[in-house]
Amino acid sequence: MTGFSGGDLRRMLSRLRDVMAGGGEVQGRLDKVVTLIAKDIKADVCSCYVMRAGEVLELYATYGLSQRAVHLTRLRVGEGLVGEVAAHARALALADAWSHPLFVYRPETGEDFFRSLMAVPMIQAGRVVGVLVVQTREERPFNDWELETLETVAMVIAELMTAAQVVKREELFQAEGNALLHVRLTGVSLNAGVGIGVAVMHKPHVRIGRLVSDDPEAEQARLHAALNTLREEVDALIGGARAEAAGFGDILEVYRMFADDRGWINRISEVIASGLTAEAAVQKVHDDTRIRMQQMSDPVFRERLQDLDDLANRLLSILTGGGLSAELPENAILVCRSLGPTELLEYDPAKLKGLIMEEGSPTMHAVVVAKALDIPVVAQVKGALNRIDAFDQIVLDANVGQVFLRPADELLDLYSGAVEARVQQIAAYAAIRNLPATTKDGVEISLCLNAGFLIDMQNLIETNADGIGLYRTEMPFLSLPTLPDVETQQAFYAQVFANAGGKPVTFRTLDVGGDKIAASSVHVPEDNPALGWRSIRLTLDRPALLRQQLRALIRAAEGEHLRVMFPMIASVAEFDAARRLLDAELERHADRGGKMPASVKVGTMLEVPSLLWQLDKLETRLDFISVGTNDLLQFIFAADRGNTRVASRYDTLSPSVLRMLRMVVETCRTFGIEVSVCGEMAGQPLDALALIALGYRTLSMSASGVGPVRATVRAVRLTEIEPFVVQLLDSTEMSIRERLRAFVRDKGIVLG
Ligand code: PEP
Ligand code: MG
Repeated sequence: MTGFSGGDLRRMLSRLRDVMAGGGEVQGRLDKVVTLIAKDIKADVCSCYVMRAGEVLELYATYGLSQRAVHLTRLRVGEGLVGEVAAHARALALADAWSHPLFVYRPETGEDFFRSLMAVPMIQAGRVVGVLVVQTREERPFNDWELETLETVAMVIAELMTAAQVVKREELFQAEGNALLHVRLTGVSLNAGVGIGVAVMHKPHVRIGRLVSDDPEAEQARLHAALNTLREEVDALIGGARAEAAGFGDILEVYRMFADDRGWINRISEVIASGLTAEAAVQKVHDDTRIRMQQMSDPVFRERLQDLDDLANRLLSILTGGGLSAELPENAILVCRSLGPTELLEYDPAKLKGLIMEEGSPTMHAVVVAKALDIPVVAQVKGALNRIDAFDQIVLDANVGQVFLRPADELLDLYSGAVEARVQQIAAYAAIRNLPATTKDGVEISLCLNAGFLIDMQNLIETNADGIGLYRTEMPFLSLPTLPDVETQQAFYAQVFANAGGKPVTFRTLDVGGDKIAASSVHVPEDNPALGWRSIRLTLDRPALLRQQLRALIRAAEGEHLRVMFPMIASVAEFDAARRLLDAELERHADRGGKMPASVKVGTMLEVPSLLWQLDKLETRLDFISVGTNDLLQFIFAADRGNTRVASRYDTLSPSVLRMLRMVVETCRTFGIEVSVCGEMAGQPLDALALIALGYRTLSMSASGVGPVRATVRAVRLTEIEPFVVQLLDSTEMSIRERLRAFVRDKGIVLG
């Protein structure tokens, strides 16, 4: 498109108008349009995707892709790059589309050869009616002028297509509030998966009949009786079969502590003393707290709010005799503003196919419970409560954060197929869970789990992983105002050992701060938290915190094999300082006659780049290193791991990353240090293959990665993949992902 001027654009637009206005079949006219655009702007491909009923994008016309794919290739809104453009009505211009995480390869289109992509939404009357895409064979960046040109062209085509009735308005547009037509709502995915079912509105709001009382003492007595019932109910949930089976103990214990919060109870009592009934006082204190907490920017408080909502609703329902949760139909999608962990547990998980929240955040307890129960969650769905009615049919695609209300049959069929395929895939992974993760040429790979809650421990059995490679000890404590005492921590860790069934567990000491909220007592707001006072820096400056944790770990590990790992270590000196605290605690335990752990192994996370140049000095100091690629790569590339705008700036399979990882594994081998990778990439089949090719033999990942990685490992031959990856270390491309993908495809390996 280089050299394309304003005059060229005007001429192209008038030719487009002529083609669209001319007679003949609509298909023929659109074929001419895409050809004209591709030729005029010197692109190798121009394709037009049209939005069909039920939010499906259909490849309607193409110049450059295989004609076989026309009307055959269909993408859901939110699926792949084209779906992404439609979902957010936002253009994309990518020099290397293949390395984008949302790229979806559709073999029928024959797009193997096209590397760069520019895609813009076609918008008509404020709605996306399609997506216009151009692609080029050579890898090249697109400039703003090119993007604007394509947007203008797309706008014109959209108008012309609607006039020519290619896009039927009645299929696409629904009057606001018309319950008979389909609606799409967008939110944030907090637990991936797809759910199909009918809407059930969660109604925690309890009606308060009596507001004023003449007998404050009687009301105080009612309050205390209700608080006792509340504690009994929570205790019953903690001990209950459902909680026990899923191991929710730790979350509920934390939650139970709120039920004993003196400040909260005293405030309610004071309001009762001023003349309100117990229930009115609970409601008033809760409303006041809610308003104060909502104004706080600190996420710790905002998270606590969910738990307080849950508690207050439960207390109110005890005081008024109202019920909390509804009976569920067979396939239910629960819709709520927000929800506490025990409220979610009140519902039958077998019938819950999805959860939609107007609010919600990734680390809130209800989401942790939903993850453990494998319930897909889409949160932060604006207007969900107003727009969804009870018994509405819903398709919830939590893979892309979309909710489809009253979906068209076509969309329903598409998703039913996806759900069925997922069920089959899970069954396929379950079938190989007892088979070793060994390559075709006999190299054994150890697959471990990353965990953070007791609930995660059941995944050890389900996935048959070899152990816990990373136990993030801070997780259950994040929403507490202060860290629990040694005894409470010890009880948590003892349960972890008990649930591990003899498999090794690597406990990482508190990693608070940065993206993980610190306990509020030690948390200080900072401009640059990822680089700030966090993790080992914080616990070395507050050694009592670290010593208490180490004491609790040592006590819990009496007679067990204890593995302790320090996070965010930046230098040997820092490691030595942390290790001294561990040694001091071990000595203290021995001096007091405590039973010692059967063995103690000490290690560090490698997630701060400075440590890369001191690896050789660690030989005599520690037993193992675990590479935390999530943090390490954000620091190496100076790209915030939580910022989606820079997420595609680098790739985990960049040659520089692979060279660095190769250097680490070789140094560790030379010095006899055990090494593993526990960043997210370890659980992605293609990335895992690269790690294995580089020499890693232990990978630690979230539970969902174990099945796919096991299947992939079993399908490859190390003698083939290793030389292939090693020769690509010299590549100067941004990423070797595409080459590795092609290699795997050529070998007939289907990635798990
Ligand atoms: C990492 O940084 O790669 C890692 C595993 O730790 P976390 O994700 O807990 O920061
Ligand atoms: Mg980290």
